[in-house]
Amino acid sequence: MHLIIQHIGQLLTLAPSPNALGEGRGEVKPNPRPLPSREGVKGLGRFGPAMSDLGIIEDGLVAIEDDKIVAVGKTSEFKPKLKFLPHTKVIDARNQVVMPGFVDCHTHLVYGGSREDEFEMRASGVTYQEIAAKGGGIRSTVKATRLASREVLKRDALKRLDRMLLWGTTTVESKSGYGLETKSEIKQLEVNRNLNGLQPIEVVSTFMGAHEFPEEYRSQNIEGGIDREGYVRLICEEMIPRVAEAKLAEFCDVFCDQGVFTPEEAIKILETASNYGLYPKIHADELASVGAAEVAGKVKAVSAEHLLYPSQAGLALMKQAGTIAVLLPGTSLTIKKNYAPARKMIEMGIPVALATDHNPGSCTIENMPFIIGLACLYLGLTPAEAICAATYNAACAIKRGDKIGSVEEGKQADLLIMDIPNYRYIPYHYGVNYVKTVVKKGRIVVG
Ligand SMILES: [Zn+2]
Repeated sequence: MHLIIQHIGQLLTLAPSPNALGEGRGEVKPNPRPLPSREGVKGLGRFGPAMSDLGIIEDGLVAIEDDKIVAVGKTSEFKPKLKFLPHTKVIDARNQVVMPGFVDCHTHLVYGGSREDEFEMRASGVTYQEIAAKGGGIRSTVKATRLASREVLKRDALKRLDRMLLWGTTTVESKSGYGLETKSEIKQLEVNRNLNGLQPIEVVSTFMGAHEFPEEYRSQNIEGGIDREGYVRLICEEMIPRVAEAKLAEFCDVFCDQGVFTPEEAIKILETASNYGLYPKIHADELASVGAAEVAGKVKAVSAEHLLYPSQAGLALMKQAGTIAVLLPGTSLTIKKNYAPARKMIEMGIPVALATDHNPGSCTIENMPFIIGLACLYLGLTPAEAICAATYNAACAIKRGDKIGSVEEGKQADLLIMDIPNYRYIPYHYGVNYVKTVVKKGRIVVG
């Protein structure tokens, strides 16, 4: 035992209560049949009333050995059973909250340049779509990312990760998609991989060559102005095989929306990716209702992102497939758009996760507690639901629900000590950093 945190005011374990309904595929309403073994359904995200159960233990204790949690319970019950060795570090967390580290399950972390000029234009009334139509938006970051060296991309991403860690993020998903040509997509993914050894946050890679159509596939001489088929072919026949062969990503994502990739193109790309062992994700129905939530259900996507305008049929298919809805209220705030119908999703029994969507254009937020605040203010989540969405469900959205996202015996010791008397302070006093200590893989990395 090298670290014991004891007398914790509120320990949020996020462990499922033994008879809780609302994990994985199944019904939210009481189920007359006995649940299948919990292992069989674990890791698919919690939904319905189960999202409100934070598994709180008062006067709690967590014991850590190496990188694992070895004991979780009440201090009075566990303390007498534990061996306190000379090297054991003991932390008292009276009047404080201990909880799982935040999992930021949707970011575009590695990119060149910055877009404060566009921010200023938007502040004076120009819309995001108007800027994109003039060659700004994603395409301007593509130019800067192609030009940037690996060193520069790495240096800038490291600064972002340092700040994220201070706000309590212990795992981050990071997408490519600012290369839009094979070598630059691979460059971004290789930087992702490198970042893992250089700082404490675990970086999980997603290939997103289908983020936009690159300049070289656009021409006035082509019908519609874009050689769509040609670029989709490049993704399917060259990028995906190369990325899979070099094991540079676990997931493949497609921006399926108005003005970007169609549902048919998304299905082709995501099915190809699945055949190469990459799990599907999809940016779905953010700008308009185009049938992207339906695609998520059809390809059994691990997660569907944004979802401002999903159809009823699309949500029903997502529920059936066990797809997690990753909601990104920071983007709605930044580009002054609507918010996703989160309550409806929770009522339908779809597991909801939260993330920052950090990127240089539509959302620069790097701070998960702030996202939890926004989720309560604009998505209508309760503080407990938002915390579940930012920890356990977010872990499930990157297929790590069995390793992280909750404080349970046998799990990786990724946790936070927050200097607040109860968890409701996180959204209530948003914008202030209450993270006092960050533990990653059993090691104190902040505080
Ligand atoms: Zn995104």
